[in-house]
Amino acid sequence: MARYRDSVCRLCRREGIKLFLKGDRCETAKCAIDRRAYQPGQHGQRRVKPTEYLVQLREKQKVKRIYGVLEKQFRLYFKAADRKKGVTGENLLQNLELRFDNIIYRMGLSPSRSAARQLVRHNHFTVNGKRVNIPSYILKQGDVIAPSQAKLGKSTIKNALERVKSKTQPHWLSFDVESKQGVVQSLPTREDITIPIEEQLIVELYSR
Ligand code: SF4
Repeated sequence: MARYRDSVCRLCRREGIKLFLKGDRCETAKCAIDRRAYQPGQHGQRRVKPTEYLVQLREKQKVKRIYGVLEKQFRLYFKAADRKKGVTGENLLQNLELRFDNIIYRMGLSPSRSAARQLVRHNHFTVNGKRVNIPSYILKQGDVIAPSQAKLGKSTIKNALERVKSKTQPHWLSFDVESKQGVVQSLPTREDITIPIEEQLIVELYSR
């Protein structure tokens, strides 16, 4: 599968907002957006008058980059959201939020979504007692997430459990450190997704 291998901080600078792609570093003064608040590249400091298309395109790119989804897969998410009852933009964001890697990140078990993806791929967590190593796996209300028995002694899991103690989960998720289990308490609503996204722009882009 194709992967973006350049500096992820460039992506934040391109979108002009913090996308929180680097974990703990994003919260420090080393964040590239704080130090160089202009677009990357030779012409980064040039002013460009944004067209309607450009604004819509940037919004889509922003969401793709936040969740680490490539174009083809993102289109599939959009098609699925469009087929579902309700508001397409909200359905799209809800499905992205329910990705397995995102849930691991939201629960506070990893510093970033890319780190969460790595944990999932390497079989560190189970869903309802079954091994799931697909980061894009969509969770449902009531699903139970727990570290794999085989990985309990690993430092990655010990660090994840340590990290979760200092994190506050969103109200639609919970994680109990004692029992080492997390639950999707409810499906996230639009209000629960606090990232500054105007999903309607994405719908407009794909409806062109
Ligand atoms: Fe983005 Fe984090 Fe890099 Fe800051 S440190 S530019 S938020 S990836």
